[in-house]
Amino acid sequence: MIKFLLLFLFPLIAFSQNYSNQYLADQATILSGYTQPATLPEVREIDLAAMSKLVCHARVQCPVIGAYLDADVIYIRKDLDPNLHDNILLHEYVHWLQHHSGKFDLNNCNDTIIREREAYQVQNRYIAEVQHGFQFLILPPMTCENRPLG
Ligand SMILES: [Zn+2]
Repeated sequence: MIKFLLLFLFPLIAFSQNYSNQYLADQATILSGYTQPATLPEVREIDLAAMSKLVCHARVQCPVIGAYLDADVIYIRKDLDPNLHDNILLHEYVHWLQHHSGKFDLNNCNDTIIREREAYQVQNRYIAEVQHGFQFLILPPMTCENRPLG
């Protein structure tokens, strides 16, 4: 079972963000169509070692740069290029909105894939429409063993 929703990308090195957390949460809300809870989740900016420990079982080359673990904390690597930081944080805000929508069964593998696909779609719209970027992210292959997607 895939319990955590993670984002795998290659980080670029820089140290700030372009937009406020509220702006990014608002964009995630507008682009996804979900209802925004009254209080934003805490955002913890952590380094590679901390992210590795948190989601990669301390594997040395942890490829994860953002994580939402179905609570009110979003983790994001603190050494990201500003545009990447913002679209990753927006992606994690989508997971936060999905979680609070109650629309998905968190223990259902198919729901996990649908959630991830939706977050990628919103992130790609943000990159194209707000950041005016040319990057298009493709969801890595995810399957639920021997079960068709439904
Ligand atoms: Zn995700």
